[in-house]
Amino acid sequence: MIKVAKFGGSSVADAEHFKKIRSIIEADPSRRFVVVSACGRRYKSDAKVTDLLYLVAAHVRYHVSCDDLLTDIGQRYFDIADELGLTYPIREEFATFAEKAKAGDLTTEELVSRGEYFTARLMAEYLGLPFLDAADVVAFHHDGTLSMTRTQALIQERGIPGGFVMPGFYGATREGRIMLLDRGGGDISGSILAKCLDAALYENWTDVSGFLSADPGVVPHPQPISRITYSEMRELSYMGASVLHEEAVFPVMEAGIPIAVKNTNRPLDPGTIISDREDYVADEPIITGVTGKRNFVAVHILKDHMSNEVGIVRRVLSIFERYRVSIEHIPSGIDSFAVVVQGEDVKDSLWSIVADIKTEVQPDGIKVVDDLALISTVGRNMSGRPGISGSLFAALGQEGISIRMIAQGSDEINIIVGVRDVDFERAIRAIYSAFSDGDHLLELKDLKRAEAASHPASVR
Ligand code: ASP
Repeated sequence: MIKVAKFGGSSVADAEHFKKIRSIIEADPSRRFVVVSACGRRYKSDAKVTDLLYLVAAHVRYHVSCDDLLTDIGQRYFDIADELGLTYPIREEFATFAEKAKAGDLTTEELVSRGEYFTARLMAEYLGLPFLDAADVVAFHHDGTLSMTRTQALIQERGIPGGFVMPGFYGATREGRIMLLDRGGGDISGSILAKCLDAALYENWTDVSGFLSADPGVVPHPQPISRITYSEMRELSYMGASVLHEEAVFPVMEAGIPIAVKNTNRPLDPGTIISDREDYVADEPIITGVTGKRNFVAVHILKDHMSNEVGIVRRVLSIFERYRVSIEHIPSGIDSFAVVVQGEDVKDSLWSIVADIKTEVQPDGIKVVDDLALISTVGRNMSGRPGISGSLFAALGQEGISIRMIAQGSDEINIIVGVRDVDFERAIRAIYSAFSDGDHLLELKDLKRAEAASHPASVR
């Protein structure tokens, strides 16, 4: 059995964390394929090596000296190597790199990728596993997109069957030009590797014990999520919960490989398992999580007899398309509909869009609501069960929170409500407590009990 274990920046921040990783790897012989990020923060005010390397690149571009920065970055690797007694010639290798960087001989991608490269070099020696350079196996097209077919072939050809340590976050084109994934893209590297090796599990080791059912900054002590589906996790991450890079789900999802999100500092915590299992389990929570995002804008278009007019929605949407604005939701009524977009996407173009709608569609009225926050309540167990949305709306009503918009995905795994920005946190707390008994989230069996007691509209 193969498990791919990816360790994020905070998990490789210093020698202490390297030791934790070695115990994790030694605890399970199927963990032989390791992917690492560049060293992350050791403490709150510390800097991530990747950010520092981007700074070096900027200094070089503007011909400002970056000797101190490079000294600080180098020192982080020297400290790890010294403390663990490693023999990899990190001082010589880093000095060569620093010289090339200062001379402007490296592309930004090459320069920044050395964060993960040096971490992986040290980790490989420390774990006693071979080093596999991502530039030799993770294949990019020239347009910066990944070539899964070539990556698959290269991993088959060059991957070392007994296991290896590979740096995350980068790869290379056919000509050897280094290319980077998105920020946080080490998660994607791990996922690709798991897919190419047909692993049984993709373990993503980080500094939290998996996903929480709400933001702990908003809801005190939210319950950890033990099991979640890929689509629920996409919904939660899109709407704000950030533990794993959103795109990291796709490669393993296609291959049906589950992801385990685990905590390097508390390896025995169960963490969260992400898979496509959707079966009914009586002691699982009714809702999986509540999350949300602020700063949305809704443009309401009103026109009498709109429902009889063909093409009006298309005309309005094409105006948004012209301004390259992506659309989040289109709630509609008989004589009106709204287009909901992210505030950030229309910060320069909102009033030009409104003017174009006025001229091209000639509505009876346009209303712009720009203090909208969206809250998504996610749960595979909500689908097909009466009373869930009733409880949710009742909870908001009792709190005196007005709902400005409602949307539900067609697969019924989420209910989205729009509220005024000032009500954002209060609304999340109200929804969370509607589905919790104070200590724990209510479970499916509680719902059954409520139904039996013939209170189908309430889960409380
Ligand atoms: N080191 C990269 C970043 O900070 C990639 C990663 O950590 O996954 O974005």
